[in-house]
Amino acid sequence: MPNILITGAGLSGTVIARHLAEKDYNLTVIDEKDHTAGHCRSYRDEKTNVMVHQYGPHIFHTDIKEVWDYVNQYAQFMPYTNRVKAHTEFGTFSLPVNLLTLSQRFGREFSPREAYDFVQSKADKSITDPKNFEEKGLSLMGEELYHTFFSGYTLKQWGRDPKELPASVLSRLPFRFNYDDNYFTHPYQGMPKEGYSTLIENILDHPNIKVKLNTVFTKEMAAQYDHVFYSGQLDRYFDFELGRLEYRTLDFEKFYPGKEETLNGDYQGGAVVNYCSPKIPYTRITEHKHFAPWEEHEGTVCYKEFSRNCEPTDIPYYPVRLSGKNDLLDKYVAEAEKLTGITFVGRLGLYRYFDMDKTIDAALKTARQFEKTFKAGENCSMPFAEL
Ligand SMILES: Cc1cc2nc3c(=O)[nH]c(=O)nc-3n(C[C@H](O)[C@H](O)[C@H](O)COP(=O)(O)OP(=O)(O)OC[C@H]3O[C@@H](n4cnc5c(N)ncnc54)[C@H](O)[C@@H]3O)c2cc1C
Repeated sequence: MPNILITGAGLSGTVIARHLAEKDYNLTVIDEKDHTAGHCRSYRDEKTNVMVHQYGPHIFHTDIKEVWDYVNQYAQFMPYTNRVKAHTEFGTFSLPVNLLTLSQRFGREFSPREAYDFVQSKADKSITDPKNFEEKGLSLMGEELYHTFFSGYTLKQWGRDPKELPASVLSRLPFRFNYDDNYFTHPYQGMPKEGYSTLIENILDHPNIKVKLNTVFTKEMAAQYDHVFYSGQLDRYFDFELGRLEYRTLDFEKFYPGKEETLNGDYQGGAVVNYCSPKIPYTRITEHKHFAPWEEHEGTVCYKEFSRNCEPTDIPYYPVRLSGKNDLLDKYVAEAEKLTGITFVGRLGLYRYFDMDKTIDAALKTARQFEKTFKAGENCSMPFAEL
């Protein structure tokens, strides 16, 4: 059996490990943290017993049937629809911007046609070729909507003036002319009943997989294996010798609302409220009990989320891949491509934001490709995964 080392017990490493374990490979999965599941980790809050997502709210949604079937093999998924609210200087509204949002924001009724025409009338027609996030916003919806919902939130999330961000970031945000307030449009959406960590533990539960926590990857360690899959930071693998890739990190401020602040243990009435005003320092408040409406809890626990630049000692969350060109990334990719016996995977290894479904899809594709090209006893070279 070929021996494979997987660095990272997050979703990427776990899915690759399971696929290869079933093909009779011998897998050692290491993680420097004291838990599996990486950024998807969930656990029960010690005080309230509410299932919380340690690294920020995670909602599973996908349009890839194979991925939906895959996760449902390992965990029971409960129906869950993500309905986000936006707290703004003009009140609290339904997100994504939809017919109800428009009616409330402008204090009048709209049919879909009227709403479309109205938004068109507000759009700044003088911007014919929007060059950045702000120009795109103004050209699509005009000043009021853009500043109410998008400019302040974006400034806080990315720490940059929206004029410095590419127009493509705005194009990814949904905007609707009907009453649909389901944040995602994917046909499959849900929440694992016993949390993401249980899902991942179940994927790892195979006799050919050995998991070692509190274990940091070293190159000496790698030399003992036939191949390495590495889901840690790409620049860290090279000891940051060319410089550091930029990330945003998040700080979470946990609080337990008192009985007098809640109605029967409900603090904000839903799982996620975005705070769009630049005057409020946090980007959102998440009340995790609402992710599990099938459970009953007397108490509640909430997290305020703050976004800032990632310093060397911080946990990297979002790769700052806002503009198309990134010279430093290109240099690291060129270095990675010279290596043999290692495949870089996942959000940190590929320096790219992936939702969980895309992470699973990419991990399955990578593992299948590996099976085809790997020959036991030979040093296997894998190209930097093109995704
Ligand atoms: C705030 C936030 C919210 C999100 N919300 C959603 C959502 O709602 N829906 C959705 O589909 N997706 C969401 N995601 C994306 C989701 O978290 C990712 O798809 C997923 O975590 C990627 O898994 P991964 O294994 O690639 O990376 P990770 O989960 O980061 O796993 C990498 C693992 O490698 C370990 N590691 C790194 N370096 C080393 C080393 N040198 N030695 C040993 N171990 C190492 C780390 O400890 C970590 O456990 C969100 C992400 C964030 C940041």
